Amino acid sequence: MDKLNIDINDEKLLNILGDNLNICFRINEIRNKFGFEDRVNVLCINNKNDMKKIIECDIPDWVIALNNDNTIILYNLDNWENKSSDFIIQIIVHEFVHIVLNYITNNTCPIYLNEGLALYYANQNQNIDFKYLVELIKNEKFELEDLDYEHDHFYDLSILIMDMFIIKYGEREVIEFIRSLNWDMFSKNNLKL
Ligand SMILES: [Zn+2]
Repeated sequence: MDKLNIDINDEKLLNILGDNLNICFRINEIRNKFGFEDRVNVLCINNKNDMKKIIECDIPDWVIALNNDNTIILYNLDNWENKSSDFIIQIIVHEFVHIVLNYITNNTCPIYLNEGLALYYANQNQNIDFKYLVELIKNEKFELEDLDYEHDHFYDLSILIMDMFIIKYGEREVIEFIRSLNWDMFSKNNLKL
């Protein structure tokens, strides 16, 4: 996929994506918004040991995709139950956003912002109980920067908080704060709860 500056090692995946305009539009949109031009690889791996060799640590069973430097790794693509091209594109866009954010912030982006933006650009914000989560943010005593994968509602909270910041500041400002590593703007006090 030369026009996207993306290398894909898997014939089957190339066929699934084909000349999909949706992925072209979304990847280019993110590249433009964040000013990220580097080449990215998509690697399909079916064997856990091969995966371990690349990322050098154990991965939980539920993980189907991850990123490492400039590489998106899709794990066990053949066994994915829902293999619609839309689903696969969501996963690729999600991991692509992580790569962009890790690069432009030199791996300093707080994980809930990193995850929130990945979910936001991949349109993975359906079926979230916003009301319940807003109450949870209000009532639970946690600082945003302490939010991590240990929290039961980590993904849902990340996308909700990202949505709230985008509503408050606008997308362009949010990106600017991230590019300038201005993490103070993302405090709990700045959320309209
Ligand atoms: Zn993620």
